[in-house]
Amino acid sequence: MATAILSFLNRRTINKQVCRVCQELTELKEERLCGECTRIKAQIRTRFPEAARMMAKPDEQQCKRSACPCAACGGRTLDLHPLYLSDPARADRREAHFHPRCHALWLEITMGPRTGQDIEII
Ligand SMILES: [Zn+2]
Ligand SMILES: [Zn+2]
Ligand SMILES: [Zn+2]
Repeated sequence: MATAILSFLNRRTINKQVCRVCQELTELKEERLCGECTRIKAQIRTRFPEAARMMAKPDEQQCKRSACPCAACGGRTLDLHPLYLSDPARADRREAHFHPRCHALWLEITMGPRTGQDIEII
């Protein structure tokens, strides 16, 4: 019994939690994200400073191709994944393919924090 309590306490001190985006049990960084999700989110911010504007007319589609380069993390996609086309009227039209996980992070950035969740009213 005492051993059980001890190991429970030891586990608590490592402070592993479930990342709220990719559900991985690990040591979390800020915003209850794991290290990897934190890195991807920062990368989206630098790669897409105009993310919010791109999303003014969101046009989400499903891309059926495989091995597209993910616009957020640069890795290759595996399965069906979200695809965005920026304004088709513009010449510098760009496509953005995302892993489902990267897409969730992308939405957080473009939509802002969801109300009623993760917001502390001071
Ligand atoms: Zn994560
Ligand atoms: Zn694709
Ligand atoms: Zn990705």
